[in-house]
Amino acid sequence: MRRPRFIDPFEPNEVRRLVREFGSPLLILDCERVRLQWRALSKALPRVALHYALKPLPHPALVQTVIAAGGFLDLASTGEVQLAERLAVAPERCIHTHPIKRPQDIANARKFGVRTFVADNPDEVRKFARLAGEVRLLLRVSFRAPGAVCDLSRKFGCDPEDVLPLARLAADLGIDVRGLSFHAGSQASSATKHVEALQLCARLLAAARREKLGSLDTLDIGGGFPIDYTQRMPDIQRFCAPLRTALAKLPRRVRVIAEPGRYIAGPAAIGVATVMGRARREGHWWYYLDDGLYGSYSGQLFDHARYPVEALRSGTERLPSVLAGPTCDSIDVIAENLMLPALKVGDLIVGRAMGAYTWASASEFNFFPKATVVAVNTHPGDTGGVTAL
Ligand SMILES: *Cc1c(COP(=O)(O)O)cnc(C)c1O
Repeated sequence: MRRPRFIDPFEPNEVRRLVREFGSPLLILDCERVRLQWRALSKALPRVALHYALKPLPHPALVQTVIAAGGFLDLASTGEVQLAERLAVAPERCIHTHPIKRPQDIANARKFGVRTFVADNPDEVRKFARLAGEVRLLLRVSFRAPGAVCDLSRKFGCDPEDVLPLARLAADLGIDVRGLSFHAGSQASSATKHVEALQLCARLLAAARREKLGSLDTLDIGGGFPIDYTQRMPDIQRFCAPLRTALAKLPRRVRVIAEPGRYIAGPAAIGVATVMGRARREGHWWYYLDDGLYGSYSGQLFDHARYPVEALRSGTERLPSVLAGPTCDSIDVIAENLMLPALKVGDLIVGRAMGAYTWASASEFNFFPKATVVAVNTHPGDTGGVTAL
């Protein structure tokens, strides 16, 4: 039996030990950090029920940590529903938020016991006609967020002027419209869009209530809460301050929920890769790692993120270096002109803030396997509980 103890995933010797035990590349998920992120966001948004959106890192240890912290889940696919089911999460703690679903996806979520779904157009509302009475809907509203790194209102959501007609359709079909939802864009630099969307949704909710189009007691303010990568962002208290002011003005009966993803998962994991080989090209060292743009660093492409990377080797002299991924594709380069000490084969490279939209979007292109996820500090207050996926 391993003696229970706290593992600091940022301690170089712990990283080396985990690589010896579980191999490379790794994604080390620190469940204690998940709890800290959860608490910080709960404090910044008091009385808001937090539903962790699984998409950025759908890992069992993370889901269990969120549930143990008293949290809720935001599921968006049959695979995510099955993960929640496998972990015996109470379905009442889950909502399903994908605005476009196959009938089978709806059936699977219903079979598990989810009751709250999202729709943003008449066809989707009609998919629930035969389930009227057993489900309730959140109508997703679109507010374009050109300032956000990832604008999530282009692909989903109805225009604000279409909300009332959609709510009337649902009411005609006997489906309870529970409220409205939006996603103001991921990694937002300020809460301006959240606040604007919230205020407009509050007005729409009131208008729909006047027409008695459903219970209309829920406002889902989505995700988007930012974290530090190579660029610093406002801390979460400051980021949420204008949101708290806006939330305080809502009528008491309105229940507010949020769907944080990145904020919970991002800072909680580091990526660890190993130098497989090196070459000097045009006067610079190129280091070839066993993880790259097709793996955990896929977020650099899909999520437009830049992770703070460093070598687990000290050295005063730093040289402009190139970090490349393992595949034979020439775009598979993580960073150029990075100031690093001279590295040898076998040295470790650590990327911070790599929990969100990294491993989740990795592929096994060229048959280079995805990083193994190792969850540490899986039980509050301890531990040394280490599990590998
Ligand atoms: C991706 C997603 C989230 C999580 O967004 P973050 O910006 O990572 O917080 C929340 N809700 C929905 C519907 C999503 O698609």
